[in-house]
Amino acid sequence: MAIKVLSEQLASQIAAGEVVERPASAIKELVENALDAGATTINVDIRNGGRTLLQVADNGCGIAADEVETAFLRHATSKLDSAETLAAIETLGFRGEALAAIASVTRLTIVTRLIGATSGIRLVLEGGQIVQREVVGAPQGTVISVENLFYNTPARLKFLKSVTSEKRAIDEIITRVALAYPNVRFRLTHNGRETFKSPGSGALRDALLAVYGVEIGQQFLPIKPVTTSQATPTSETPISVTGFVSAPSLHRSNRSHISLFVNGRWIKDQRLTYALIDAYHTFLPSGRFPLAALFIEMPFNEVDVNVHPMKTEVRFQQPRQLFKAVQTAVRETLLDAAPARSTHSPFEQIVGNRWDGVHIEQRRDRSAEEPLDWGSWNPQEAQPSPQLSLDPRMAQNVGGDRLPVMRVIGQVRNSYIITEGPDGMFLIDQHAAHERIMFEQFMAQWGEKAVSSQQLVTGMPVQVRPDQVSLVEENAQLLAKIGFGVEPFGPQTFVVRSVPALLSKVDPSEALRAMIDDLEDEDVLMQTEIEAAMIKKACKTAAIKAGQTLSMAEMEALILQLEDCENPQTCPHGRPTLIHMSMGILARQFGRS
Ligand code: ADP
Ligand code: MG
Repeated sequence: MAIKVLSEQLASQIAAGEVVERPASAIKELVENALDAGATTINVDIRNGGRTLLQVADNGCGIAADEVETAFLRHATSKLDSAETLAAIETLGFRGEALAAIASVTRLTIVTRLIGATSGIRLVLEGGQIVQREVVGAPQGTVISVENLFYNTPARLKFLKSVTSEKRAIDEIITRVALAYPNVRFRLTHNGRETFKSPGSGALRDALLAVYGVEIGQQFLPIKPVTTSQATPTSETPISVTGFVSAPSLHRSNRSHISLFVNGRWIKDQRLTYALIDAYHTFLPSGRFPLAALFIEMPFNEVDVNVHPMKTEVRFQQPRQLFKAVQTAVRETLLDAAPARSTHSPFEQIVGNRWDGVHIEQRRDRSAEEPLDWGSWNPQEAQPSPQLSLDPRMAQNVGGDRLPVMRVIGQVRNSYIITEGPDGMFLIDQHAAHERIMFEQFMAQWGEKAVSSQQLVTGMPVQVRPDQVSLVEENAQLLAKIGFGVEPFGPQTFVVRSVPALLSKVDPSEALRAMIDDLEDEDVLMQTEIEAAMIKKACKTAAIKAGQTLSMAEMEALILQLEDCENPQTCPHGRPTLIHMSMGILARQFGRS
C-alpha cells in the first residue's frame, strides 16, 4: 500500500481508542466537561450499562450556537491557548479530544444553550458526521446523549464486558466525582431507576455518606490539617492534604477504595497509594487496606497532567515532599484518633473477649497425669506438606489424614495453641484451625442440602455502596443457598432476614458486607468458583481471630473438633493449620542425638 494520510474520521476512531475504552470512560469525559462548564447539577442516565444509551445533562455555561460544531472537531478546546497554560492546567479537560472521539464511534445528540442566549442548538452526529442541526428551545446547559457506543468499531464492541461490569465501572466514576465535587448534585439512573445521588451540600462528609452509607461513612476520620512546613521544613511549596481516611476499625481486602485527587482530578499513583497505606503501619492487620478520599492541592505548575490521553496519570515535580506530606497527615490523623492505652485489668480483657464459637460441652478431660491413648497414629507415614516452606531441621508438617489425639498445653501470643501429641509437640494456628473446622461443618451441611440458617428476630437493614447493589441482586440466589435471606429495601439498602448459622455470632451487616466485598474482586468467575469463594469467606469471617484469648476449655474444644476434621492440616485457603516438632527434631535441636 502507498503511504497516505489517514482520513479525519479514521484518525478520530483511532484516537477514540485511547480516550473511550468503555461506557464509563465516555461518562468520565462528559462529566468532566460538565464540571469544567461550572455545572452545579449533573444528571447521568444510562441504559444497559451504557451500551445502548448514556446521557449526561448539566446546568453549566452551555456552548455558543456558532461554536457547537467546532467543539466536535479534533483538538478543539476552549481551555488551552498557549504553552504557558499547558504548563499549569487548571481544568479537567484540555486536550480537545473527547467530544470528537466519542462522536466518532457513536450516534451522538447534543442540546445546548449558552448562558444568556435566547435559544439553544440541537446537533446530531453519526460516526462523527453531522446529520442534523436545528435551533431549539432548551434549558441553560448541555445535554449530551450517546447511543450505540462502538457501533462502527466492532473490535471495541467485542471487548465490552457484561452490563453489570460496565455499570459497576460507571458507578466507580460517578461516586468518585461525587467525592471530589461535594458542591455538585449528582444523580445516576440505570434503566430508569435511580441508583445514586449526592446532595451537593458542599460538605465532603455528606458526599462520603452518600457513597458509603451512614454506617461505614461514620467510620471515616477527617484528615488533620498539616501544613507543608511541618512535614518538610525546608519546602517552599504549599501542599495541602485534606479529606477523609478510614479509622483502623474499617478496612478492605484490596486497595480499590483508596481514591486520590490532585487539584480536583482523580489520579492513579502507586507510590502515593503506598505512602498512604504505609501510614497505617501497625494500625491494620496485614493484607488489609484502608479506605480513603484524599485531596491534594498543590500549585498547578508542579504537576504535569499531560501524560496520557485518559489524564489519570500525572507527574509530580517534587514527589518525595508530596509523599511525605501525605504520610505525615494520615499518620497524625490516626495517632490523634487512637484511644489512650487501655487501663482494663488483664482479667477484664479476657472476659471481654470471651469466645463461644465452639461447643464447650464437648470438652474432654485431659490432665497431664492421665496417659493419652495415642492409638494407631504413626508419624512415620507422615508426608511433608508441599505448601510449608519451613527450615526442615526446625519443624515438619504433619502428614497423614487425621490428627492424633492431643493435649492442650497453652496459648502463645493469643494466636497459637501449643499441644502435646504422641510424638512431640504441635503449634496450631487458632484462626486457621477454626476456619478449617467451620469449613468442614459447613460443607457437610451443604452436601446434604441442609445449610442451617438463623432467622433474625428483626430484619436488619444494611446499606451497601451503589456499585454493590447489583452484586447483591445478582447473587441473591447464591446468598440464599448459603443461608442469607436478603431482600431489597429502598435504594442501596437491603434487609437481612436470616444469616448462615455459621455466622450467627457475627454482626449481620458485617457478614453480608464481607460476602460481597470478596465478590467485587472477582470480575469473571464461574458460578462454582463464586460459591467456593463465598463459603471460604464465610468461614474466615466466622472463625476466631488471632489475638483472641482462649480459655483452656475453649482450646480443648477447638482441638477436639480439629481432630475430627477430614483434612485438619490446612485451612480452606491452603495454609497450614499446624506445625509439628517431633521428638526427633527436639532431640536434634538440643544436641541429644
Ligand atoms: P476539552 O474538554 O479537552 O476541551 P472536549 O472535546 O471534551 O475537549 O470538549 C471540547 C470543548 O467543548 C470544550 O473545550 C468546551 O468548550 C466545550 N464543551 C464540551 N462539553 C461542554 C459542556 N458540557 N458544557 C459547556 N461546554 C462544553
Ligand atoms: Mg473534555
